[in-house]
Amino acid sequence: MALSGLDIYKLLPKTNCKECGFATCLAFAMQLAKKTVNLEKCPHVSADAKKALEASSQPPIKLITIGKQDNRLEIGNETVLFRHEEKFHHPAGIGIIIEDDLSDEEITKGLEKINELSFERVGQQISVNLIALKQKTDASRFAAVTSIITKKSSLALVLMAGDEAALRGALELTKDLRPLVYPLSSDRLDGFAKLAGEFKVPLVVPSCDDLEKLCSLTKNLNSKGVNDLVIEVQESSLSRAIWQLTQIRRLALKKQERALGYPSLISVKEKDPYLAVQHAATYITKYAGIVLINSRKPSEVLSILTLRQNIYTDPQKPLQIEPKLYPIGAVSKDSPLLITTNFSLTYYTVLGEVEASKVAAYILSVDTEGMSVLTAWAAEKFTPESIVKGMDKFGAKEAISNQRMIIPGYVAVMSGDLEEQSGWKIIVGPKEASGIPSFLKNL
Ligand code: SF4
Repeated sequence: MALSGLDIYKLLPKTNCKECGFATCLAFAMQLAKKTVNLEKCPHVSADAKKALEASSQPPIKLITIGKQDNRLEIGNETVLFRHEEKFHHPAGIGIIIEDDLSDEEITKGLEKINELSFERVGQQISVNLIALKQKTDASRFAAVTSIITKKSSLALVLMAGDEAALRGALELTKDLRPLVYPLSSDRLDGFAKLAGEFKVPLVVPSCDDLEKLCSLTKNLNSKGVNDLVIEVQESSLSRAIWQLTQIRRLALKKQERALGYPSLISVKEKDPYLAVQHAATYITKYAGIVLINSRKPSEVLSILTLRQNIYTDPQKPLQIEPKLYPIGAVSKDSPLLITTNFSLTYYTVLGEVEASKVAAYILSVDTEGMSVLTAWAAEKFTPESIVKGMDKFGAKEAISNQRMIIPGYVAVMSGDLEEQSGWKIIVGPKEASGIPSFLKNL
C-alpha cells in the first residue's frame, strides 16, 4: 500500500538540509507521496529507507496480464475494498469452461457460441474474456483441442491441465499467446510452476483453506522466480468462498500482506442456472479477478456481464453519452422531439422505447453531466435554460418545424418556463419510459 506523506517523512533523515530543493524534509515527503518528485533527489536517504520506500510504491495487488494484444485481460492492481472509496480498476475476467472430451464438432459449435457472447449495453461493448480448456482426457487430445481453440477464437486462454505432459503440449502451441496455467491438482504444482517459469506465463496457485499456508506457497513460488500468480478459491460453499475472497483482498490491502497480493480466480460449480448466475455475480462483487462459468447461454452470460459493467464503472463518473440531437428512424421535419438527459442508462432506455414504438422521432440529449432526469433537475442541470441551449447548439430548431417538444412527466413543473423561453409548445410525456410507445402512437 502506498505510504502517506507522514509515513515517508519518518523514513527521511529529518535534517532539513534543503539539498533536494525543498525547504524541509516534510515538504519533500509530501511531494514524494504525490509522486511528483523522485527519491533520488535526496542524497542522504539510507539504504533501508530506500528499500522500504521502493517496496511501498509497488501496487498491493499485482497486475497480471493474460493473453496478448487486443484481447488480453488485465486483472489486479486494485487499491480499495469498497467501490465508493475510489473505484475498482480492472474488471473481473469472465471465462467459459470447455472440456476436451467433447468431439471436434461440439468444440467448434461451442466456440462459435462463445464468440457470439458480446453485447452492446449503454453504448459499451461487453463480452466474455477467456476460454478455459479443462483436461478430461490425455495429453494429445488436450493439445488437439488447444489447437482448435486457437484457430477458432481470439479470446485469452486458461489451460486447466491435469499433468505436465498435457500442459507442455498446449504451451508449445500457445507460447506467443500468454495463457494462464491452471493446475487441476495441487500435487503437480512444482512441475507446473517449472513450466510457467520456462514459458513465462502466469500460474494459478491452487486453493488452500489455511491462508498462512497459502502465503508460504506463493512465497515459495516467488523464490523459484514465478511471480505472476493468480490465487484459486474453491467454491466449497458460497459463504466460504466469499469469506476467502474477502480475506485475501483485505489482507493484501489492509495488512500489506504481499504474499496474498495477487488477483483471485473462482470456478462456479453450482448446477442450477439461476443460482450459478447469482454465485458468479456475488464473486464479481467480492472480489474475484476471474470467474469461470460453464454456461454459454446468452441470457445467463448477459446478466453476469451487466453486473460486472455496473460494478466496474467509476462511481464518481456516471456513464454519459454525447449530448446532441439524435434522429431515430426515418425522421422528417414533422417528427416528434423528445427531451432527455445524457445519462447513458436514461438515454438508452428512452431510445429502446422509441425504437419499440416504430415512430420516427428525434431525441435531444441535454448535457446534464451524466445525471438522470430527476437528479439533474434537482441539481439545476436539467432546466429550461439548458434545454433551450441544447436545442440551439444541436440544431433542433432547424431540423424540426412542428415546434413541439415532449418532456419527461417527472419534470412537468418546468413546462411554463420552457414554453416561454423556447417559444415551442410543451407536451408532458409519460413519467416512465415504458409509457413512450403508446404515447407516441397516440400523439
Ligand atoms: Fe531532507 Fe533529504 Fe531534502 Fe535534505 S535532501 S531536506 S535530508 S529530504
